[in-house]
Formats: sequence, C-alpha cells, structure tokens
Amino acid sequence: MASDTNKPALIPALFTMKCPSCRKSTVFLNKSYFPLNKCLALKDECEVCGEKMKSESNNGGGINYALTMVLFFLNLLWYWPIFGLSYKDNSVYYFLFASLGVVILAQPYLMRLSRMLYLYLYVGFGHSRRVNID
Ligand SMILES: [Zn+2]
Repeated sequence: MASDTNKPALIPALFTMKCPSCRKSTVFLNKSYFPLNKCLALKDECEVCGEKMKSESNNGGGINYALTMVLFFLNLLWYWPIFGLSYKDNSVYYFLFASLGVVILAQPYLMRLSRMLYLYLYVGFGHSRRVNID
C-alpha cells in the first residue's frame, strides 16, 4: 500500500472537491459555479491518477436531499441566537423563509458536495492503479 505520509487528508480533499483516488486534482471541469448548468460537469478522468469519474455522474441526488435538510436545520444555530424564535409570534415563519434562502443560495455547493460524497463512498484512496507511490 501507499505510504501514509504522502496521503492528503480526507476531509479537506472532500470539501475542496479533489479526486477521491489521489486527492490531488480537482474533479469538476469548471472551478467556477457559473454557468450553473455546467456546475456539475465532471472531468472524464482524473488527470493525475486516471481515475474514471463519469461512471458515478448520475448519482448524488439522495445525498443532496439529506444535506439540504441538514443545512436547513443547521440554520437554527445562527438564527436562534441572533433573531430569537418564539411560538408566540411569526418568528418561526421568518426563520423558515431565511433558512430556505440560505439553502437555495448554497445549492450549487451542496450539489457538488453530495456528488463528491458519492464519489468518495465508491472510490477509495488509491483506487486507481496509476497513483504514484514514491
Ligand atoms: Zn486522481
């Protein structure tokens, strides 16, 4: 197996959208999220290790739904201390609208992140045989 000293850390690689097999090259064709309809375009294969990306390209929808719901309720963490929530007035509805806005704005990132999670679940580190071990 590859020596662990050359192995980039999992979590930073995941959140910066690096290849699941070598964790060095980015997975997405465009660095930018715009145009939005291209924001999920994957490279055919990793230019560093040759890992195939396209085989997983239709997945991630279920994970995206879960992440969206998690983020929706995580918004409580900042909304509650700042604005307060009470069942006596309309503040719960204001929270729902604010949270919805955050979730929509974060959607391009969440869609990429869920696709990344899917890739990471199915492609382990060193999956490609072309990873350099030195
Ligand atoms: Zn790679």
